[in-house]
Amino acid sequence: MEKCPNCKARRKEDSECYRCGFDFTYPILCEQISKRFYQNALQSFRNGNMSQAFDWVSKSIIYDNHPQSVRLQRLLLMQKLYHVKEEKQEETRQTIQSA
Ligand SMILES: [Zn+2]
Repeated sequence: MEKCPNCKARRKEDSECYRCGFDFTYPILCEQISKRFYQNALQSFRNGNMSQAFDWVSKSIIYDNHPQSVRLQRLLLMQKLYHVKEEKQEETRQTIQSA
């Protein structure tokens, strides 16, 4: 978090905004949780568990809508849709062959 979510003042290392007094405790906590979930998503992705990766990145986005997380979620969604399409095509091929 580079700016205060309340007044958009540039954030310093303080625990509250120097301009409006906004408490950064919960936004910082949410960022940390989001980063942890994003790391879990990357680990699942590396292990080839795309469904689990999708679940982790979706949880990550709930806590912080970071562009990096949104891109990973879209990639996983496209990958999921591609596999559904391939499965449907294979089902159709088998149906045609058995008819
Ligand atoms: Zn502020």
